[in-house]
Amino acid sequence: MIPSVLPTYSRAPLQFVKGEGSWLIEADGRRFLDLGAGIAVNALGHAHPALVQALTDQAQKVWHVSNLYEIPQQKALADKLVEATFADTVFFTNSGTESCELAVKMARKYWYEKGQPEKTTIITFSGSFHGRSSAGIAAAGSEKMTKGFGPLLPGFKHLPWGDHAALDEAIDDTVGAILIEPVQGEGGIRPLPDQCLKGLRDLCDEKDLLLILDEVQCGVGRTGRLFAHEWAGIEPDIMMVAKGIGGGFPLGAVLASEDAASGMIAGTHGSTYGGNPLACAVGCAVMDIVSDADFLQSVNARAGFLRQKLEGLVATHPDVFDGVRGSGLMLGLKCKVAPADVVKAGFECGVITVPAADNVVRILPPLNISEDEMSEAVNRLDFAADAVREAMG
Ligand SMILES: *Cc1c(COP(=O)(O)O)cnc(C)c1O
Repeated sequence: MIPSVLPTYSRAPLQFVKGEGSWLIEADGRRFLDLGAGIAVNALGHAHPALVQALTDQAQKVWHVSNLYEIPQQKALADKLVEATFADTVFFTNSGTESCELAVKMARKYWYEKGQPEKTTIITFSGSFHGRSSAGIAAAGSEKMTKGFGPLLPGFKHLPWGDHAALDEAIDDTVGAILIEPVQGEGGIRPLPDQCLKGLRDLCDEKDLLLILDEVQCGVGRTGRLFAHEWAGIEPDIMMVAKGIGGGFPLGAVLASEDAASGMIAGTHGSTYGGNPLACAVGCAVMDIVSDADFLQSVNARAGFLRQKLEGLVATHPDVFDGVRGSGLMLGLKCKVAPADVVKAGFECGVITVPAADNVVRILPPLNISEDEMSEAVNRLDFAADAVREAMG
């Protein structure tokens, strides 16, 4: 008999009943160090007092009104994002997938309004992940995600990640945009080198294309800058955001320059829930903390500390791990064993990590994790690696 919850996930047998900062507490009382943060969502850990305060204060006033009316919390959050980024304007969604939908629509509408309606094709790259909607899976294009779900939304050209020649060759008169993650998340924590992101920006300027960045996983302080593309010193035209921006409350956004957004006039897009008062009150609290320069500096300090610890872990277990990669607190342990085995052994040792493609275990702690917690988490991964080796015999 089919379970009452549609079985699209193979879930670990863990029920977390409480969260405290970087810790999750299981129903049986075990305490886990959380190096997954709900897949880069709990940017400030669990039950952060400022977020709890923002949520409960707003919950007592009004939760939802509809985008038919002015929403001051939404305007406040948009102002903060515009102030802190390249963007001139913001649309709020409830997820990364919805942000992908709007990014695709916005790019196509842009060229339509500019009198070049043929420029509908969007170039994407292997190993990417842009969500699970029809546009999201068509954009990523992997067999794993698309098989059986055809006909797929047309208008995406998939290129091998890092293949410059293929990129030059792919750009024809139908191409209107390039869509890429500055650091691939699901694909296995693969950072795009800064000079490649710069090169993509130059290419877009030269060939008259929009550059769309998917910062759903790598944004909101994760890499030690508010958004990952800042490391390359470039600006996108359109950017997808979600995950960390709500700190655990479902919230996403599409940020855009005034020009890139120019096709999206009244009536061209909407959302019932997107940008509701509750979500935006929490989003404001997250932004107030995460966009602060001192906070971002502290993320970089933590990242340096954790990376060094993980390099030590790899050196201790060369038969289990192949190396550390990533950017800031978006790190990956490349494995010589099945990543799922490492994650599972981690559970036994009280540490939570997240598997990804390309044989990688993702390390995505809360951005405010302490040094003691990082040390303890790596100790637990050390025990987990021993257990994996013993199981191999
Ligand atoms: C998670 C993710 C998405 C999809 O976000 P949802 O909130 O699950 O819809 C899109 N792009 C990237 C890079 C992601 O990591």
